[in-house]
Amino acid sequence: MPTENTETLGAKDAEWLGKYTKVHMNVFGTPLRVMDHGQGTRIWDIDGNEYLDFLAGIAVNSLGYAHPAWVKAVSEQAAKVAHTSNYFATEPQIELASKLVGLAGAPEGSHVYFGNSGAEGNEAAIKLAKLYGRTLAGALPAIGGKPARIIALEHGFHGRTLGALSATWKPVIRKPFEPLMPAIEFVPANDRLALYEAFAETGLGKYGKGPVAAVIMELIQGEAGVRPLDPQYVRHVRQMCDINHALLIIDEVQTGIGRTGRWFAFQREDLSGGVTPDIVTFAKGVAGGFPMGGMIAFGAQLSALFTPGSHGSTFAGNPLGAAAALATLDVIEHDHLLDNAENRGQQLREGIASCGNPLFAGVRGRGLLNAVQLAHPCSHAAMNWALEHGLIINAVAPDALRLAPPLIVSEQDIDEAVGILARIPSDLPDD
Ligand SMILES: *Cc1c(COP(=O)(O)O)cnc(C)c1O
Repeated sequence: MPTENTETLGAKDAEWLGKYTKVHMNVFGTPLRVMDHGQGTRIWDIDGNEYLDFLAGIAVNSLGYAHPAWVKAVSEQAAKVAHTSNYFATEPQIELASKLVGLAGAPEGSHVYFGNSGAEGNEAAIKLAKLYGRTLAGALPAIGGKPARIIALEHGFHGRTLGALSATWKPVIRKPFEPLMPAIEFVPANDRLALYEAFAETGLGKYGKGPVAAVIMELIQGEAGVRPLDPQYVRHVRQMCDINHALLIIDEVQTGIGRTGRWFAFQREDLSGGVTPDIVTFAKGVAGGFPMGGMIAFGAQLSALFTPGSHGSTFAGNPLGAAAALATLDVIEHDHLLDNAENRGQQLREGIASCGNPLFAGVRGRGLLNAVQLAHPCSHAAMNWALEHGLIINAVAPDALRLAPPLIVSEQDIDEAVGILARIPSDLPDD
């Protein structure tokens, strides 16, 4: 059982957080605790307090903490060769790329690019889309000649680097860095007419805004508060992309690698309406805690737009990360963690819906990516209360709590978390 912390912060935590703030730029605010070690679904802070982790490093620690297969793979690879640069290749990297193409069900000729984060996966996708946009000038001479546009969704999140940030909607994080990449436009999610109009502005000759190279979107808008798109809308987006020769980029940085009960969220009919992307990006959960991300381009033609010099990264596809990812995917497969994500997710949502806490106005999500809608915007107070009672959850929006436990989470873990959630006081102060 997690310790019931009686005080908010232990002595060692307070001391080390003081040191933290002296030397770290304050982009994350003050961390909640200083963590020491983890095991399975549990993590302990430096004062020895135990927490049941329903955030998993933001949907990263797919196998929880210190999974023996992951530790073994990483240790063995570290002892063999950790990094080579892309002047050389390694077996784990090659195996991982073909594994991912297979799991995505991508057609023959599809190719992978590895980076080290979600933002980098999206940077690569945006660059590939830009190269693709140039080919439209030849294919569509009447509207060519202008730089191709990229359409992104309001409330979408794609990362903090400048290209990915250009496609990220939230004004408070984007505006201070403008001007960003030109020719990126936002349309409201689930609004067919707005999308139609954005495409229609393509126009002819000098009157139009230029062709659309790509639409980039998440199927569940994670950072916006775990908001699933309407699958009918997703199908409409695919159709609009097809008609207009635009690419569909699905950002699966948060939803991918089993998180929603399938390898990729687009493989869920109830999220994607059955559509297939042209590019899928991944990161967070792929290497079980090792920094890794990337993209899969569907088909040979699209993949071939990247040629030597188009893109790169020193660490990309590094064998240590690839070994971590292979071990993660292997455990997900052999321990049937997709089924576990589906079943435990259902248990979690049902448990929350029937726990009787008047603070909870609803619960949404798929698999193990879920949010509780709050009756009033007190998510930070609720998160802190849960933390003090041994449960890590995330205040993803003022009125929503995100729950993303590791894919190994057990039935008992879910019951325990629901037991704590049920007791969160409903009269906490608003954010
Ligand atoms: C987290 C996230 C990113 C950014 O990933 P980083 O690894 O933080 O760069 C991009 N897209 C989505 C959907 C995400 O959830």
